[in-house]
Amino acid sequence: MHKEAFEQTLVLIKPDALKNSLTGYVLSQLSEFHTNLRFAGTKIVHVSRMLAEEHYAEHRSKVFYPSLIDFIMGFAHYPDEPWKRRVIAFVYQGPEAVKKIRDICGPTNPHIAREQRPGCIRALGTIVPLKDASGKVIGERMDNLIHASATNSDAEREIKLWFNPVDIPPSMRSYPTEINNDHFYFKDGKLSLTHAPDSICLLAPGDVVWKSDLEALRLLYKGQPSPCSLETVAAKYLVNYSQED
Ligand code: AMP
Repeated sequence: MHKEAFEQTLVLIKPDALKNSLTGYVLSQLSEFHTNLRFAGTKIVHVSRMLAEEHYAEHRSKVFYPSLIDFIMGFAHYPDEPWKRRVIAFVYQGPEAVKKIRDICGPTNPHIAREQRPGCIRALGTIVPLKDASGKVIGERMDNLIHASATNSDAEREIKLWFNPVDIPPSMRSYPTEINNDHFYFKDGKLSLTHAPDSICLLAPGDVVWKSDLEALRLLYKGQPSPCSLETVAAKYLVNYSQED
């Protein structure tokens, strides 16, 4: 198969789409019939704070960041029903996957989407004003139903953030993997090769991992600069681990 046929992108069906029962609609818009793209992976994710913050790291300094985190974690749409807080994550694969899906999503801002691209998915979204303590509007939260990677490098970062290699069939993996030989444990934001009470085993010998994750873990363990943080690697191993943030 040609390299272009392996292009991948991450899609998230966000809590506003789930709450409004739009999952079927969104998936039908993205169907292979319309896009010539296929599912390579899917999972239902209770989004932890760690995963949300890693996913939206580039927006950390923005005024809308706290509301964006609350939104993707499901607090905004399910304040009193924690068991409903989830997103559905997909890897789509095929020629021009990134561009095709972004086109069907439409502009980020649902008002602009309705104006410029009536019929696109985000035209069904809404905007919620964000107010400070005095009631003054300081920004907005865009409830835009769907996330789709913006570029191929964003797609790689995001797919590796949300998915383990084993979530994706071997013949559909687009990024290099390696077999791990060590135990890696996580506790209180720290990495260890030995188990301690309450530590979580991220990886055990024999696990198939993203090669770049393993390289990062080895550097982090030695205290050397790494291309990504420990949280970036750890977040996906903690997906659905507990009900906590
Ligand atoms: P992006 O990284 O551009 O895909 O944006 C990620 C998400 O952040 C969007 O889907 C929106 O929910 C939110 N967002 C982006 N820009 C803004 C903005 N100017 N105001 C409020 N929310 C935004």
